[in-house]
Amino acid sequence: MTKRELAVPTPVRITLADSRRLASKGLNNGPHHHGVTEIEYFHGTTQPTNVEITVRMGLPDIQCRATVAHEFGHAFMAHQCLFDVPLVLSEGFAELASYAYLYHDVATVEARAECRSISRRPDLYGVGFRRVYEIVKRIGLAEFIRRLQVNPTDDFVQFPTQ
Ligand SMILES: [Zn+2]
Repeated sequence: MTKRELAVPTPVRITLADSRRLASKGLNNGPHHHGVTEIEYFHGTTQPTNVEITVRMGLPDIQCRATVAHEFGHAFMAHQCLFDVPLVLSEGFAELASYAYLYHDVATVEARAECRSISRRPDLYGVGFRRVYEIVKRIGLAEFIRRLQVNPTDDFVQFPTQ
């Protein structure tokens, strides 16, 4: 992920868990909900001091990788001090992290198939992915992050469609 400019300076702990343990962390059992990211801060700081990603155990290899990359996208956003970002953009960004990793780094037939499914999803994740993909293509990742840091709250003010 580092070579995609998605470095996370805090050590990231990744653990596997069954559905019950994931549910105890607030994750529902939907077909696309396979991971959760927990971020801790020292009192009074905005930089994460501890990042833990929990992934559903028993997933097929490609879905496990997709989930870790998605959650890593959330950890990256936290390290950029991006709070109060509209859900469609935060999930869209996490999906873009997943897509970029699968497409460029894994790059197998299965990975490319998973990318197609990410790009076509009709739910908030797919809508968010397509929105963030177009924005990042247009203005670049650094500018996308910078604008969100200035004003995270209104998607269409920050990123008008052209
Ligand atoms: Zn997510």
